[in-house]
Amino acid sequence: MSSEPASFVSILTPPGRGAIAVVAASGSAAFDAVDGCFTAANSRSAREQPRDRIAFGHCSSGAHREEVVLIRGSDDVLEVHCHGGAAAVARIVDTMLAAGCRQLPWTEWIARDRKVAIAVDADIALAQATTRRTASILLDQRSGALAQAITDIRSAINRGDVNRGRQLLTTLIERSNVGLHLTAPWQVAIAGRPNVGKSSLINALVGYERAIVFDQPGTTRDVLTAETAIDGWPVRLADAAGLRTTRDELEAEGVKRARRQLASADLVLWVIDAAMIGDAREASQAAEQELHAEARDAAQSIQPLVVLNKIDLLSNEQRAAVGSAGNVLAVSALTGAGLDSLLAAIAHRLVPASPVAGEAVPFTQQQVERLKAALAELDRGDLAAADAYLTWT
Ligand code: GDP
Ligand code: MG
Repeated sequence: MSSEPASFVSILTPPGRGAIAVVAASGSAAFDAVDGCFTAANSRSAREQPRDRIAFGHCSSGAHREEVVLIRGSDDVLEVHCHGGAAAVARIVDTMLAAGCRQLPWTEWIARDRKVAIAVDADIALAQATTRRTASILLDQRSGALAQAITDIRSAINRGDVNRGRQLLTTLIERSNVGLHLTAPWQVAIAGRPNVGKSSLINALVGYERAIVFDQPGTTRDVLTAETAIDGWPVRLADAAGLRTTRDELEAEGVKRARRQLASADLVLWVIDAAMIGDAREASQAAEQELHAEARDAAQSIQPLVVLNKIDLLSNEQRAAVGSAGNVLAVSALTGAGLDSLLAAIAHRLVPASPVAGEAVPFTQQQVERLKAALAELDRGDLAAADAYLTWT
């Protein structure tokens, strides 16, 4: 049995007459075919063209001569953009086939070309992005940031530089926390004793009335949520009301649900009533005690931001004594005092290091799994297996 041909060609534009057709190809036979018929205006061969740049030129086959544009991508891929007529496309594809390429339907091409596959994933993710900030990070990936980072990792691996490969992979995997939240909001649970101002705080943070605010403890029976953006990051605030134990059946169910919400949240805000507290240290201790009493087993893994609410009720001296310190933030849901600092603290806890413009960020579960699998293979010392996880085929 002969081995699979390593060169492929595929028509990426829909069949029928269009202004421009795009033929993509990969592998050495594809480059040979192009060099056999393409004359670039800059007189370089296909392999010598700078990456991701447009090379104007023409293709000649027999009596036909047509203007085409060649783009050499990364990883042995090239695109020929030609006149959209069926005959022009067929001539280019036939040349590729004659040189030994195998033709693939565009769906298969997309699945095997990393750069295109990532761009398609990014398009899908972009449809779910709710803020300009998340969309801009996804656009960077669509333009090739992630594909390029993976190419760089593969080069390091292929030249045997395991440390560099491992370092690049680790950095990329660290960014997946942000990446996976580009399409799904961070979950922030607002918890604390009844009547401390959880519902009021949600309303104040979101900027409109969403939760039920009422003077009587235990008013909110369900976990209410509100979506908002904090510093450009999508956040779902959840009111984990009614954590205190109760005999009321309906509330008991709410308590269970709230506890689950706490355990699975990306961040917990533990709200304390400032009137009950002397200073930030005391607030921190009270929050810790309440958290352990209410969340039980889950408390170990939760590191809440402590929100000291209702500071408007304190005298000036009291307010000065309370202050904000460490993980404690003094606010008033009523007057809005301290909310800016709270929002900044939330953003910093959710995204300690924001990706800079143009930086590679993996943004789907599947991408993250591949990167982790590649890292595991590198740690095992199997470079070929690591590389295979990064070929995206
Ligand atoms: P929850 O039970 O924790 O959800 O508390 P609520 O948001 O329902 O608030 C309970 C009561 O405290 C309501 O009467 C609110 O108006 C009041 N409250 C909430 N936040 C503040 C605040 O910052 N300052 C003052 N003075 N009252 C507040
Ligand atoms: Mg409430």
